[in-house]
Parts: sequence; structure tokens; C-alpha cells
Amino acid sequence: MGNDFYNILKTLKLKATPKRIAIMEILADEPTYLSPDEIRSRLKGRFKNIGLPTVYRNLEELADSGIIIKIIHPDRKLYYFYCHNREHHHHFVCVQCRKVEDINFCGMEEIKNEVEKNLKAHMVSHMLQVYGFCKDCLKKQTISL
Ligand SMILES: [Zn+2]
Ligand SMILES: [Zn+2]
Ligand SMILES: [Zn+2]
Repeated sequence: MGNDFYNILKTLKLKATPKRIAIMEILADEPTYLSPDEIRSRLKGRFKNIGLPTVYRNLEELADSGIIIKIIHPDRKLYYFYCHNREHHHHFVCVQCRKVEDINFCGMEEIKNEVEKNLKAHMVSHMLQVYGFCKDCLKKQTISL
């Protein structure tokens, strides 16, 4: 099947530049999350003098459109991740081995009701990301909880 990032970007009304397509390809091939610097070093083969600000800007634009996921790690560093599941869902992020797993639960309907009933406000968007140690990392018992 393969990912047609050119058309995916077009659908999102983003310019399908070679850099954006390359970033999407790198993230889509990677089962874990990557830092902007790691993404930059992988881009260097194709774009020799690509600077970190350019990488950051492209990642931010892609994350704003929702096609990639921004991970704000408890270590305060930023990472990015591509999920192949296009249904609405949330993520569990392992802070040790960098595994990302889908959480097929949202719970936002209840929060939305709460916001609309009690605050008389209107909810526009929401974010939920869960950080922790995955099953495999717990098994290795290298963590003291
Ligand atoms: Zn883990
Ligand atoms: Zn996902
Ligand atoms: Zn949700």
C-alpha cells in the first residue's frame, strides 16, 4: 500500500515540499519517537546543509496539522512521532524505551459535557497523552517505582 505523503500533505492543504515528504517518510518508518536533531541527522543524506531551525519549523507545521504527533517528554525535550492509525485516539508514551502505544479510549465526551453544563463553555479541542513505563520496561525491573 505505501504512504502517499505527497497527496496526504495536499489533502491537509500543506505544501508537499521534498523536505516535508522526507520528514514524513523518516517518521513513518520509525516505530519510536525521534528528536528534531535525530531527524536532522537522517535528513542530511538528502539535504546536506539542512539546519535545525528548518527541521523544527517543518515539524511544527506538520504537528499543527495533526499528521504527526508532538511529544513533550517529561525530560522537557520535544520529540515527534507518526501514527499509522488515523482514527481519533490517544497515546501511551514509554519514557524509557520510546515505545508509543495507541489508547483506544478518549473520555472527552464526559469532559465536554462537564465543560458545557457547568462552565457553560464550548470546547474546541483537547489533548491527552499518557507518559509512563511500558510492560516490557516494567518486566526488566530496571525501574524503581
Ligand atoms: Zn518501555
Ligand atoms: Zn496512534
Ligand atoms: Zn480524544
